[in-house]
Amino acid sequence: MDTRSKELFEAARRHIPGGVNSPVRAFGSVGRTPRFIASAHGSRIVDVDGNELIDYVCSWGPGILGHAHPQVIEKVREACLDGLTYGAPTEREVQMAELLSKLMPSMEVSRLVSSGTEAVMSAIRTARGYTRRDKVIKFKGCYHGHSDGLLVKAGSAALTTSVPDSAGVPSDYTRNTLVALYNDPDSVEAFFRANPGEIAAVVVEPAAANMGVVPPAPGFLEFLREITEKNGALLIFDEVITGFRLALGGAQEYFHVTPDLTTLGKIVGGGMPIGVYGGKREIMEIVSPLGPVYQAGTLSGNPIATAAGLETLRILQADPGIYRRMEEKAKRIEDTVREAAGDRVCVNRIGSLLSLFFTSVRVTDYESAVSSDTASYARYFGYLLDHGIYAAPSQFEAMFLSDAHTEEDVETTCRVIRDFLRGME
Ligand SMILES: *Cc1c(COP(=O)(O)O)cnc(C)c1O
Repeated sequence: MDTRSKELFEAARRHIPGGVNSPVRAFGSVGRTPRFIASAHGSRIVDVDGNELIDYVCSWGPGILGHAHPQVIEKVREACLDGLTYGAPTEREVQMAELLSKLMPSMEVSRLVSSGTEAVMSAIRTARGYTRRDKVIKFKGCYHGHSDGLLVKAGSAALTTSVPDSAGVPSDYTRNTLVALYNDPDSVEAFFRANPGEIAAVVVEPAAANMGVVPPAPGFLEFLREITEKNGALLIFDEVITGFRLALGGAQEYFHVTPDLTTLGKIVGGGMPIGVYGGKREIMEIVSPLGPVYQAGTLSGNPIATAAGLETLRILQADPGIYRRMEEKAKRIEDTVREAAGDRVCVNRIGSLLSLFFTSVRVTDYESAVSSDTASYARYFGYLLDHGIYAAPSQFEAMFLSDAHTEEDVETTCRVIRDFLRGME
Protein backbone atom coordinates (compact mmCIF):
# COMPACT_ATOMS: atom_id res chain seq x y z
CA MET A 1 0.00 0.00 0.00
CA ASP A 2 2.90 2.37 0.61
CA THR A 3 5.74 0.26 -0.80
CA ARG A 4 7.01 2.85 -3.25
CA SER A 5 6.85 5.65 -0.65
CA LYS A 6 8.90 3.48 1.70
CA GLU A 7 11.52 2.82 -0.98
CA LEU A 8 11.74 6.49 -1.85
CA PHE A 9 11.99 7.49 1.80
CA GLU A 10 14.86 5.07 2.29
CA ALA A 11 16.64 6.47 -0.76
CA ALA A 12 15.89 10.02 0.36
CA ARG A 13 17.45 9.46 3.76
CA ARG A 14 20.76 8.64 2.13
CA HIS A 15 21.15 12.08 0.61
CA ILE A 16 18.69 14.44 2.30
CA PRO A 17 18.73 15.12 6.08
CA GLY A 18 15.96 12.96 7.51
CA GLY A 19 14.82 12.28 3.95
CA VAL A 20 12.89 15.54 3.66
CA ASN A 21 13.39 19.16 2.71
CA SER A 22 11.30 20.49 5.62
CA PRO A 23 11.15 18.64 8.94
CA VAL A 24 7.39 18.16 9.53
CA ARG A 25 7.16 16.19 6.28
CA ALA A 26 9.10 13.34 7.87
CA PHE A 27 6.00 12.23 9.87
CA GLY A 28 8.31 11.98 12.91
CA SER A 29 5.67 12.83 15.50
CA VAL A 30 3.06 10.45 14.06
CA GLY A 31 5.32 7.44 13.58
CA ARG A 32 4.48 6.71 9.95
CA THR A 33 6.34 6.73 6.65
CA PRO A 34 5.75 9.94 4.69
CA ARG A 35 3.77 9.56 1.50
CA PHE A 36 5.65 10.70 -1.58
CA ILE A 37 3.24 12.62 -3.76
CA ALA A 38 2.96 12.05 -7.49
CA SER A 39 0.20 14.51 -8.37
CA ALA A 40 -2.66 16.54 -6.97
CA HIS A 41 -5.89 17.92 -8.42
CA GLY A 42 -8.68 19.72 -6.62
CA SER A 43 -9.08 18.34 -3.10
CA ARG A 44 -7.16 15.13 -3.85
CA ILE A 45 -3.52 14.17 -3.76
CA VAL A 46 -2.24 10.93 -5.23
CA ASP A 47 0.85 9.27 -3.83
CA VAL A 48 3.45 7.26 -5.74
CA ASP A 49 1.66 4.00 -4.85
CA GLY A 50 -1.52 5.27 -6.45
CA ASN A 51 -3.44 6.00 -3.22
CA GLU A 52 -5.83 8.92 -3.60
CA LEU A 53 -6.25 10.99 -0.45
CA ILE A 54 -8.52 13.89 0.50
CA ASP A 55 -5.99 16.56 1.34
CA TYR A 56 -6.37 18.80 4.38
CA VAL A 57 -2.78 20.01 4.37
CA CYS A 58 -3.14 21.94 1.11
CA SER A 59 0.63 22.53 1.11
CA TRP A 60 0.20 24.16 4.57
CA GLY A 61 -2.20 26.76 3.31
CA PRO A 62 -1.46 27.92 -0.24
CA GLY A 63 -3.96 25.49 -1.76
CA ILE A 64 -7.05 27.57 -0.98
CA LEU A 65 -8.47 26.87 -4.45
CA GLY A 66 -7.45 23.24 -4.36
CA HIS A 67 -4.59 21.78 -6.35
CA ALA A 68 -3.82 22.57 -9.97
CA HIS A 69 -6.63 25.09 -10.45
CA PRO A 70 -6.98 25.25 -14.26
CA GLN A 71 -6.88 29.07 -14.46
CA VAL A 72 -3.78 29.28 -12.28
CA ILE A 73 -2.01 26.52 -14.21
CA GLU A 74 -2.82 28.28 -17.48
CA LYS A 75 -1.33 31.58 -16.29
CA VAL A 76 1.79 29.78 -15.11
CA ARG A 77 2.10 27.94 -18.41
CA GLU A 78 1.77 31.19 -20.36
CA ALA A 79 4.29 32.93 -18.11
CA CYS A 80 6.85 30.14 -18.54
CA LEU A 81 6.86 30.58 -22.29
CA ASP A 82 8.15 34.13 -21.80
CA GLY A 83 11.15 33.10 -19.71
CA LEU A 84 11.57 32.10 -16.10
CA THR A 85 13.40 35.03 -14.53
CA TYR A 86 15.04 38.26 -15.61
CA GLY A 87 16.35 39.96 -12.46
CA ALA A 88 14.63 43.11 -13.72
CA PRO A 89 11.20 44.59 -12.99
CA THR A 90 8.05 43.31 -14.67
CA GLU A 91 4.49 44.59 -15.09
CA ARG A 92 2.98 41.81 -12.98
CA GLU A 93 4.92 43.00 -9.92
CA VAL A 94 3.21 46.38 -10.26
CA GLN A 95 -0.17 44.69 -10.64
CA MET A 96 0.53 42.58 -7.57
CA ALA A 97 1.51 45.59 -5.42
CA GLU A 98 -1.58 47.50 -6.60
CA LEU A 99 -3.87 44.57 -5.91
CA LEU A 100 -2.36 44.02 -2.45
CA SER A 101 -2.95 47.64 -1.49
CA LYS A 102 -6.53 47.33 -2.68
CA LEU A 103 -7.30 44.07 -0.85
CA MET A 104 -5.35 45.05 2.28
CA PRO A 105 -5.43 48.84 2.49
CA SER A 106 -2.78 48.92 5.24
CA MET A 107 -0.24 47.64 2.68
CA GLU A 108 0.25 50.97 0.95
CA VAL A 109 3.72 49.90 -0.13
CA SER A 110 4.95 46.32 -0.33
CA ARG A 111 7.94 44.33 -1.42
CA LEU A 112 8.00 40.81 -2.82
CA VAL A 113 10.46 38.23 -1.52
CA SER A 114 10.54 34.46 -1.95
CA SER A 115 9.33 32.96 1.34
CA GLY A 116 7.45 33.75 4.51
CA THR A 117 10.68 33.46 6.49
CA GLU A 118 12.28 36.13 4.36
CA ALA A 119 9.20 38.36 4.63
CA VAL A 120 9.13 38.36 8.45
CA MET A 121 12.91 38.69 8.75
CA SER A 122 12.78 41.74 6.47
CA ALA A 123 9.75 43.28 8.19
CA ILE A 124 11.55 43.10 11.51
CA ARG A 125 14.69 44.65 10.06
CA THR A 126 12.51 47.42 8.65
CA ALA A 127 10.81 47.99 12.01
CA ARG A 128 14.17 48.18 13.73
CA GLY A 129 15.57 50.53 11.13
CA TYR A 130 12.53 52.77 11.29
CA THR A 131 12.25 53.00 15.07
CA ARG A 132 16.03 52.84 15.66
CA ARG A 133 15.33 50.33 18.40
CA ASP A 134 16.56 46.75 18.69
CA LYS A 135 14.09 44.77 20.78
CA VAL A 136 11.19 42.79 19.39
CA ILE A 137 8.39 40.99 21.23
CA LYS A 138 7.12 37.70 19.85
CA PHE A 139 4.77 35.12 21.37
CA LYS A 140 5.42 31.64 22.61
CA GLY A 141 3.91 29.16 20.15
CA CYS A 142 3.79 31.59 17.22
CA TYR A 143 6.02 30.69 14.28
CA HIS A 144 7.53 33.29 12.01
CA GLY A 145 9.89 31.25 9.86
CA HIS A 146 13.36 30.00 10.63
CA SER A 147 15.48 33.18 10.72
CA ASP A 148 17.99 33.28 13.58
CA GLY A 149 16.43 36.01 15.68
CA LEU A 150 13.01 34.34 15.72
CA LEU A 151 14.03 30.82 16.73
CA VAL A 152 13.76 31.75 20.35
CA LYS A 153 12.30 30.41 23.52
CA ALA A 154 11.92 32.09 26.88
CA GLY A 155 14.84 31.54 29.23
CA SER A 156 14.46 30.63 32.88
CA ALA A 157 14.14 34.25 33.92
CA ALA A 158 11.57 34.94 31.26
CA LEU A 159 11.38 38.67 31.72
CA THR A 160 15.03 39.24 31.00
CA THR A 161 16.37 36.36 28.98
CA SER A 162 15.58 34.60 25.74
CA VAL A 163 17.57 31.65 24.52
CA PRO A 164 17.95 30.09 21.06
CA ASP A 165 15.42 27.39 20.21
CA SER A 166 17.76 25.83 17.66
CA ALA A 167 21.37 24.75 17.73
CA GLY A 168 23.49 26.98 15.53
CA VAL A 169 21.84 30.22 16.65
CA PRO A 170 24.26 32.32 18.73
CA SER A 171 22.67 33.62 21.92
CA ASP A 172 23.73 37.10 20.84
CA TYR A 173 21.20 36.84 17.99
CA THR A 174 18.27 36.13 20.27
CA ARG A 175 19.11 38.59 23.05
CA ASN A 176 16.83 41.19 21.52
CA THR A 177 13.82 38.93 21.03
CA LEU A 178 11.47 38.91 24.01
CA VAL A 179 9.01 36.04 24.32
CA ALA A 180 5.56 36.96 25.66
CA LEU A 181 2.52 34.73 26.11
CA TYR A 182 -0.24 34.61 23.52
CA ASN A 183 -3.57 36.00 24.75
CA ASP A 184 -1.83 37.34 27.88
CA PRO A 185 -1.70 41.17 27.84
CA ASP A 186 0.12 41.29 31.19
CA SER A 187 3.13 39.49 29.75
CA VAL A 188 3.37 42.12 27.01
CA GLU A 189 2.87 45.01 29.36
CA ALA A 190 5.66 43.71 31.61
CA PHE A 191 8.13 43.78 28.72
CA PHE A 192 7.17 47.33 27.76
CA ARG A 193 7.60 48.40 31.37
CA ALA A 194 10.99 46.71 31.72
CA ASN A 195 12.33 48.04 28.40
CA PRO A 196 11.14 51.65 28.06
CA GLY A 197 11.88 53.20 24.67
CA GLU A 198 13.65 50.05 23.47
CA ILE A 199 10.97 47.94 21.79
CA ALA A 200 10.86 48.29 18.01
CA ALA A 201 7.93 46.01 17.31
CA VAL A 202 5.51 43.36 18.44
CA VAL A 203 5.17 40.56 15.90
CA VAL A 204 2.17 38.27 16.15
CA GLU A 205 0.14 35.73 14.22
CA PRO A 206 -3.21 37.53 14.52
CA ALA A 207 -4.83 34.10 14.70
CA ALA A 208 -2.20 31.63 15.78
CA ALA A 209 -2.02 28.54 13.58
CA ASN A 210 1.40 27.10 14.30
CA MET A 211 0.63 25.63 17.74
CA GLY A 212 -2.53 24.24 16.28
CA VAL A 213 -5.24 26.85 15.75
CA VAL A 214 -5.55 29.29 18.64
CA PRO A 215 -7.77 32.30 17.94
CA PRO A 216 -6.98 35.61 19.65
CA ALA A 217 -9.02 36.29 22.78
CA PRO A 218 -11.51 39.15 22.41
CA GLY A 219 -9.62 42.41 22.79
CA PHE A 220 -6.13 40.90 22.56
CA LEU A 221 -5.27 42.33 19.13
CA GLU A 222 -6.84 45.67 20.07
CA PHE A 223 -4.66 45.68 23.17
CA LEU A 224 -1.53 45.06 21.06
CA ARG A 225 -2.55 47.89 18.74
CA GLU A 226 -2.94 50.24 21.67
CA ILE A 227 0.19 49.38 23.62
CA THR A 228 2.45 49.54 20.56
CA GLU A 229 1.03 52.89 19.56
CA LYS A 230 1.41 54.27 23.05
CA ASN A 231 5.06 53.19 23.19
CA GLY A 232 6.17 54.20 19.70
CA ALA A 233 6.60 50.57 18.65
CA LEU A 234 5.28 49.01 15.44
CA LEU A 235 2.67 46.28 15.27
CA ILE A 236 3.54 43.56 12.76
CA PHE A 237 0.85 41.07 11.75
CA ASP A 238 2.39 37.90 10.40
CA GLU A 239 -0.41 36.98 8.02
CA VAL A 240 1.54 34.30 6.17
CA ILE A 241 -1.29 31.88 6.97
CA THR A 242 -4.24 34.19 7.70
CA GLY A 243 -3.73 36.51 4.71
CA PHE A 244 -6.45 35.75 2.09
CA ARG A 245 -7.48 32.78 4.29
CA LEU A 246 -9.70 34.36 6.96
CA ALA A 247 -10.96 36.99 4.52
CA LEU A 248 -9.81 38.66 1.33
CA GLY A 249 -8.34 41.37 3.54
CA GLY A 250 -6.82 38.86 5.96
CA ALA A 251 -7.04 38.83 9.75
CA GLN A 252 -6.80 42.61 9.80
CA GLU A 253 -10.12 42.81 7.96
CA TYR A 254 -11.61 39.92 9.94
CA PHE A 255 -10.78 41.46 13.31
CA HIS A 256 -10.82 45.15 12.27
CA VAL A 257 -7.36 45.83 13.71
CA THR A 258 -4.83 47.55 11.48
CA PRO A 259 -1.13 46.76 11.87
CA ASP A 260 1.76 48.98 10.78
CA LEU A 261 3.44 46.21 8.82
CA THR A 262 2.10 42.94 7.41
CA THR A 263 3.85 39.84 6.18
CA LEU A 264 2.34 37.45 3.66
CA GLY A 265 3.28 34.12 2.13
CA LYS A 266 1.59 30.84 1.27
CA ILE A 267 -1.69 31.83 -0.53
CA VAL A 268 -0.19 35.00 -2.02
CA GLY A 269 2.10 32.80 -4.16
CA GLY A 270 -0.73 30.59 -5.38
CA GLY A 271 1.47 27.53 -4.82
CA MET A 272 4.73 29.12 -5.93
CA PRO A 273 7.40 30.66 -3.67
CA ILE A 274 6.43 34.22 -2.71
CA GLY A 275 6.59 36.20 0.48
CA VAL A 276 5.57 39.84 0.90
CA TYR A 277 6.18 42.46 3.51
CA GLY A 278 4.61 45.87 3.45
CA GLY A 279 2.68 48.55 5.24
CA LYS A 280 2.65 52.27 5.75
CA ARG A 281 4.45 54.23 3.06
CA GLU A 282 6.43 56.23 5.58
CA ILE A 283 7.81 53.06 7.14
CA MET A 284 8.44 51.10 3.95
CA GLU A 285 10.33 53.96 2.35
CA ILE A 286 13.17 53.26 4.73
CA VAL A 287 13.93 50.13 2.66
CA SER A 288 16.69 50.30 0.04
CA PRO A 289 17.14 51.78 -2.50
CA LEU A 290 15.17 54.66 -0.90
CA GLY A 291 16.46 54.22 2.62
CA PRO A 292 19.17 52.64 4.74
CA VAL A 293 17.50 49.24 5.46
CA TYR A 294 19.10 46.76 3.07
CA GLN A 295 17.12 43.92 1.54
CA ALA A 296 17.41 42.28 -1.88
CA GLY A 297 16.66 39.07 -3.78
CA THR A 298 17.79 37.49 -7.06
CA LEU A 299 14.43 35.82 -7.62
CA SER A 300 12.25 38.37 -5.77
CA GLY A 301 9.05 39.06 -7.71
CA ASN A 302 9.77 36.07 -9.92
CA PRO A 303 7.55 36.28 -13.02
CA ILE A 304 6.19 32.73 -12.77
CA ALA A 305 5.46 32.94 -9.04
CA THR A 306 3.87 36.34 -9.52
CA ALA A 307 1.64 34.96 -12.28
CA ALA A 308 0.42 32.15 -10.01
CA GLY A 309 -0.15 34.46 -7.04
CA LEU A 310 -1.87 37.18 -9.02
CA GLU A 311 -4.29 34.76 -10.66
CA THR A 312 -5.09 33.14 -7.31
CA LEU A 313 -5.88 36.51 -5.73
CA ARG A 314 -7.99 37.54 -8.72
CA ILE A 315 -10.04 34.35 -8.47
CA LEU A 316 -10.60 34.99 -4.75
CA GLN A 317 -11.51 38.59 -5.47
CA ALA A 318 -14.01 37.61 -8.17
CA ASP A 319 -15.78 35.08 -5.93
CA PRO A 320 -15.80 36.22 -2.30
CA GLY A 321 -18.46 33.52 -1.60
CA ILE A 322 -15.49 31.16 -1.32
CA TYR A 323 -14.98 32.20 2.30
CA ARG A 324 -18.52 31.38 3.34
CA ARG A 325 -18.40 28.05 1.51
CA MET A 326 -15.11 27.03 3.11
CA GLU A 327 -16.28 28.10 6.54
CA GLU A 328 -19.47 26.02 6.25
CA LYS A 329 -17.44 22.93 5.42
CA ALA A 330 -15.00 23.54 8.26
CA LYS A 331 -17.91 24.06 10.63
CA ARG A 332 -19.40 20.70 9.69
CA ILE A 333 -16.15 19.02 10.66
CA GLU A 334 -16.04 21.05 13.88
CA ASP A 335 -19.62 20.06 14.75
CA THR A 336 -18.87 16.41 14.03
CA VAL A 337 -15.93 16.44 16.43
CA ARG A 338 -17.90 18.16 19.18
CA GLU A 339 -20.75 15.72 18.81
CA ALA A 340 -18.61 12.59 18.72
CA ALA A 341 -15.92 13.49 21.24
CA GLY A 342 -17.71 15.72 23.72
CA ASP A 343 -15.14 17.32 26.00
CA ARG A 344 -12.45 14.69 25.43
CA VAL A 345 -11.22 16.74 22.48
CA CYS A 346 -10.91 20.51 22.16
CA VAL A 347 -11.70 21.74 18.67
CA ASN A 348 -10.63 25.25 17.74
CA ARG A 349 -11.83 26.74 14.50
CA ILE A 350 -11.58 30.10 12.86
CA GLY A 351 -12.94 30.41 9.33
CA SER A 352 -11.55 27.53 7.28
CA LEU A 353 -8.74 26.69 9.73
CA LEU A 354 -9.26 24.16 12.45
CA SER A 355 -7.45 21.93 14.93
CA LEU A 356 -8.43 19.01 17.12
CA PHE A 357 -6.50 18.94 20.37
CA PHE A 358 -6.59 15.71 22.29
CA THR A 359 -7.11 17.40 25.62
CA SER A 360 -10.13 18.22 27.74
CA VAL A 361 -8.87 21.72 28.58
CA ARG A 362 -9.79 24.73 26.48
CA VAL A 363 -6.78 25.57 24.29
CA THR A 364 -6.08 29.30 24.42
CA ASP A 365 -2.28 29.50 24.42
CA TYR A 366 0.92 27.48 24.15
CA GLU A 367 0.68 25.88 27.61
CA SER A 368 -2.82 24.56 27.01
CA ALA A 369 -1.92 23.48 23.44
CA VAL A 370 0.94 21.30 24.67
CA SER A 371 -1.35 19.66 27.23
CA SER A 372 -2.79 17.66 24.37
CA ASP A 373 -1.93 13.99 24.03
CA THR A 374 0.24 13.63 20.95
CA ALA A 375 0.03 9.82 21.04
CA SER A 376 -3.74 10.08 20.54
CA TYR A 377 -3.17 12.55 17.74
CA ALA A 378 -0.77 10.09 16.09
CA ARG A 379 -3.46 7.36 16.25
CA TYR A 380 -6.04 9.76 14.82
CA PHE A 381 -3.68 10.76 12.03
CA GLY A 382 -2.90 7.13 11.17
CA TYR A 383 -6.58 6.17 11.17
CA LEU A 384 -7.43 9.02 8.81
CA LEU A 385 -4.51 8.17 6.53
CA ASP A 386 -5.62 4.54 6.36
CA HIS A 387 -9.11 5.73 5.43
CA GLY A 388 -8.05 8.02 2.59
CA ILE A 389 -7.65 11.31 4.44
CA TYR A 390 -4.45 13.29 4.60
CA ALA A 391 -4.42 15.48 7.72
CA ALA A 392 -1.49 17.42 9.18
CA PRO A 393 1.18 15.00 10.44
CA SER A 394 1.50 16.93 13.71
CA GLN A 395 -0.79 17.89 16.56
CA PHE A 396 0.47 21.44 16.31
CA GLU A 397 -0.49 22.21 12.72
CA ALA A 398 -3.82 23.34 11.33
CA MET A 399 -6.30 21.52 9.15
CA PHE A 400 -6.83 23.58 5.98
CA LEU A 401 -10.05 23.54 3.98
CA SER A 402 -10.10 24.60 0.36
CA ASP A 403 -12.81 25.68 -2.03
CA ALA A 404 -12.19 22.45 -3.93
CA HIS A 405 -13.35 20.20 -1.09
CA THR A 406 -16.72 18.81 -2.17
CA GLU A 407 -19.77 18.05 -0.05
CA GLU A 408 -18.93 14.42 -0.56
CA ASP A 409 -15.34 14.92 0.63
CA VAL A 410 -16.59 16.57 3.79
CA GLU A 411 -19.23 13.90 4.32
CA THR A 412 -16.60 11.16 4.04
CA THR A 413 -14.24 13.04 6.32
CA CYS A 414 -16.90 13.55 8.98
CA ARG A 415 -17.81 9.86 8.88
CA VAL A 416 -14.18 8.74 9.28
CA ILE A 417 -13.48 11.22 12.09
CA ARG A 418 -16.73 10.21 13.86
CA ASP A 419 -15.82 6.51 13.59
CA PHE A 420 -12.38 7.18 15.04
CA LEU A 421 -13.58 9.34 17.91
CA ARG A 422 -16.36 6.93 18.87
CA GLY A 423 -13.87 4.10 18.92
CA MET A 424 -11.65 5.95 21.40
CA GLU A 425 -12.23 4.90 24.95
C1 LIG B 1 4.75 29.26 7.15
C2 LIG B 1 4.92 30.45 8.00
C3 LIG B 1 6.06 31.27 7.94
C4 LIG B 1 7.26 30.88 7.14
O1 LIG B 1 7.01 30.86 5.77
P1 LIG B 1 7.98 30.00 4.82
O2 LIG B 1 7.46 30.30 3.45
O3 LIG B 1 7.82 28.57 5.23
O4 LIG B 1 9.36 30.49 5.04
C5 LIG B 1 6.09 32.43 8.66
N1 LIG B 1 5.05 32.80 9.43
C6 LIG B 1 3.94 32.05 9.53
C7 LIG B 1 2.80 32.52 10.37
C8 LIG B 1 3.85 30.84 8.84
O5 LIG B 1 2.76 30.07 8.98
